[in-house]
Amino acid sequence: MGKLTEENRNYWTKLDSDIGDGDHGINLSIGFRAIKKYMDETDLSNTDIKGFLKKVGMTLLGKVGGASGPLYGTLFMKMASPLTEETEVTSEQLAEMIIQGIEGIESRGKATVGEKTMVDALEPGKQVLAENKATITTETLNEFEVKMQEGAESTIPMVAKKGRALRLGDRAIGYKDPGAESSQMLLKVLADHLSQKIS
Ligand code: ADP
Ligand code: MG
Repeated sequence: MGKLTEENRNYWTKLDSDIGDGDHGINLSIGFRAIKKYMDETDLSNTDIKGFLKKVGMTLLGKVGGASGPLYGTLFMKMASPLTEETEVTSEQLAEMIIQGIEGIESRGKATVGEKTMVDALEPGKQVLAENKATITTETLNEFEVKMQEGAESTIPMVAKKGRALRLGDRAIGYKDPGAESSQMLLKVLADHLSQKIS
């Protein structure tokens, strides 16, 4: 995720300069650099997944300004909630963690589908996982990724009902929401990781 964030820093910032204040890529880069620093400095061999995810969430909450910091922070904090002391999880557990993480973003930001936010990418992905959570297959993960991509695309013709782009009214039409794009890309990294566990 750190690598993805560095590679797409300028792209996400460009999207945010179209309909926001042009800091989305910078915000995420600051957050994931802080996480990398923590990982470099810490012996993670004794850290359980719950503790690690909470630390990641707290770092994003604490270091990332803007709307996206608390939202992405919540994603990781809530992903930790179904866990106890696991040091490994199954694909089905990870799917449940992602579902709870996305629900966390939805309840924190109070956005629903159609409001030109990251929820437009995340909610359709969450539905795929929720429908298939008893058995997660490679096909489930492909569909998860496709639905999130389509969801991010779907923000292009929208007027924003939440976030900074709200003030633009009709002028936001024609631009992809930066948070929808970053979230489908970040969650794709998680899904790719999951698919390695399956194959
Ligand atoms: P800011 O808008 O404060 O500068 P960022 O640029 O980092 O913060 O993030 C902007 C993104 O945050 C938007 O593209 C949108 O996807 C997301 N966002 C803003 N408000 C909400 C909300 N209430 N719920 C979900 N996502 C939101
Ligand atoms: Mg911004």
